This record gives sequence, C-alpha cells and structure tokens, in this order.
Amino acid sequence: METLEKLEVLAGSARYDASCASSGSTRSGGKASLGHASQGGICHSWSDDGRCISLLKVLLSNDCSYDCAYCVNRRSNPVQRTSFEVQELVDLTISFYRRNYIEGLFLSSAVLKNPDHTMERLVGVVRKLRQEERFAGYIHMKVIPGSSQELVGEAGLFADRVSVNIELPSGSSLNLLAPQKDKQAILTPMAFLGETIGNSLMERRKNPKAPRFSPAGQSTQMIIGASPESDLQILRLSQGLYRTMNLKRVYYSAFVPLTSDNRLPVLVTPPLQREHRLYQADWLLRNYGFNAEEILSDDYPFLEERIDPKAAWALRHPEFFPVDLNRAEYAMLLRVPGIGVTSARRIVSARRFAVLTPEGLKKIGVVMKRARFFIALSGRSVEKLHDRPSLIFRKLLAAENQPQKTTIKQRQLTLPGLE
Ligand code: SF4
Repeated sequence: METLEKLEVLAGSARYDASCASSGSTRSGGKASLGHASQGGICHSWSDDGRCISLLKVLLSNDCSYDCAYCVNRRSNPVQRTSFEVQELVDLTISFYRRNYIEGLFLSSAVLKNPDHTMERLVGVVRKLRQEERFAGYIHMKVIPGSSQELVGEAGLFADRVSVNIELPSGSSLNLLAPQKDKQAILTPMAFLGETIGNSLMERRKNPKAPRFSPAGQSTQMIIGASPESDLQILRLSQGLYRTMNLKRVYYSAFVPLTSDNRLPVLVTPPLQREHRLYQADWLLRNYGFNAEEILSDDYPFLEERIDPKAAWALRHPEFFPVDLNRAEYAMLLRVPGIGVTSARRIVSARRFAVLTPEGLKKIGVVMKRARFFIALSGRSVEKLHDRPSLIFRKLLAAENQPQKTTIKQRQLTLPGLE
C-alpha cells in the first residue's frame, strides 16, 4: 500500500482518540533544529463531534492483536489493516512539517504483535525525529501498556507529552470489555512516568541543563458510557490519578457505538453532554479546590446534564449562599457560579481600595448573569432568591438558553425537589 493510502487508513483509525491537546510544552528549536513546540501556531482544531484533530494525528498501525469490544480497530472487526514503517512515518511527518501542514505529531498505535514490538517502533519514530531530523516540534506519544520500562523511559525523553490510556473507569469493566488488557499493566507505566516527570522537574530546578522528561506531562483517556460506572466513580478515579500519578489531564471520550457487541450498551448517540459535564467537573477538581465527593455523592452519583456542576453544587448547598463579595475568602469566591479565577482575583484586588458595588463589579469585568443569584454586596443579596433553588434553577436554564430535552436520555435530576 502506498504511504498516502496508509495515511488515510491510519489517520481515520486515530480519529477516536480525544487526548491530543498540545499545551504545556516549552521545547524550543535551536539553530540546528527544525520546528518549535512553544511558538504560536501549534494548531488546534476540533472536529464537529468535539474532538481535537490538530497535529498529524495518526496510528503507527491499526493491525491490532487485541479485541476490545468498544474499539473500531479490534481484531474481529473487518476493517482494512495496515502499518507504517518507522522511516516512512518519519519522512511523512517531516514532509508535512516542511509543507506547513502540521506543527507536531500525535502518535499512537494499536497493539501490533505485542506491546514491546509496538513500543519499539513508536520509540523508533520519535527517536529518529529528534536525533536524526533534529525535529523540535511538539510530539505527543501514547505508551503501550505492558511494554518494557526501558522503552517507556525512552518515550519520555523524546516526547513532549506521553499518555497511557486508562480506557475504562474500573478493573471489572476492563476485564469484561478489554480482556487482554489489565489494570496493573496500565497503572505501572503511569506511576513510573509520574515519578520520573516529578524527578526531572526537581532536577531541572537544580540544573537547567538536566535532560527533560515529558515536559508537557502525562495524560490519560477514559471512555465514557461504554460501561456502567457512575460519574462519581469516574471523578473519584480522576481525582486519585491527579493526586498520585502527577497527571496533567484526564480526557473523557464519549463512547461512539461503532461496533456491535452484546457486552456494550445500546446507545443511539454518543453521550456528548455527559462528556462535556465531566470536563467541567474535572476543571473544578483541578482548578477550583473541589473534591469529587463534594460535586457528587452516593445519593446523587450522576452529574446534572442541564446545568454545569458548579451551579448544581451551589443549588444543593444554599447554606453557603449568598456569598458576600466584599468579605468572602478567595476560595469561597471561586465557588460562586459564574465567577472564575480571573474574576475572583479582580474582586480580591479591587475590594482593597473600595467597597464593591454592582457598578464596580461591572467595571472590573465580573459577569453577573449567573453570579447574581448567589452573591451579596455588603450584606445585601443582589437577587433575593438564594433560598429558592428551584427558581434559580429555572432562571439558570433560561439564561443559558439550554434546551430542556436532549437527544440523550436524561439520567436523573440530581437536585431534589426542583422539578
Ligand atoms: S488495543 Fe484495544 S483499544 Fe487499542 S487499538 Fe487494539 S482493540 Fe483498539
């Protein structure tokens, strides 16, 4: 098969991998190098179903020896199979780069023969790009669980970001849907990468010339909706990974029903709204000081799909509101729906010089559309509704102009008494 035919097959096979954001790298090109990972222009684009399709996003091979029920490349699925040779993919990347088609590479692969065989080839591509072609553009590379630690370590030395996919939110779902995979084989390289990334950062603080190891960190991807885990279980898992694996991002990928298998749920459309709400909840974990057990509980284990998780939390906790913007701690300001990090900082800074008023808030750029239901200024509620969560809920829906019905079956209303 010609290289461009292979590209068509292998770029198509890579479409369903969501985890390819390229932010976070500072790799810069020197005089003898080609490309630059941190200069403006690393392109990000998004497909119509919300997935990042930037970079040259391609599989080394789709000739998989595994048979994961949810995957279009599974061994038992009759799709066209092909693999790049190492040099072929290096040449393709460089020629695309020189033509200005791409500014980096997102490289993954199905399991060709076995994990080590695949990983040797993946590492072969990035090694050649860095050492022979002096390519300094962005590289995100997948690590194949079950491959040797030595190869995983090499991947971290050459790639800007590495990722080991967790795939499914529990070991039992993994056993059921991806029986050739094993939870420990996924967590072991993740832990190794997390530790080595941490050590490398410490080393480079002491000695800036020390080798970089995956400078844009590690990430993982989880498929949502192919297995029965609740959003609470998913967020607990993500929280644990952030805390213990030095993880930069968890990517949530709505299950796209492309294959039929009686182990899979019957879905009419991918649960994209659920995926969106999980990203928002994940943001709360990483940037707003929430923990998973605050966002959801055993009584309410699924995210409300119609309003964002911070607003849902606020409506479930009227005892914390209204928050007085002239007095509240920074951490509490961050919990007000509609107030983000920038607004919270501006509030803290502005109130040092003057008592905040609605006009003052407008001047510093605080958007009141959602926040007004949850705030007070010098003891007076802006809207006297904080003890009427059902009314706020309806007003929030109206303000966001969100349809009350989605094509996805609503799981439940997690705000008691609001219907
Ligand atoms: S290992 Fe599983 S998920 Fe990965 S390509 Fe093969 S069948 Fe698909």
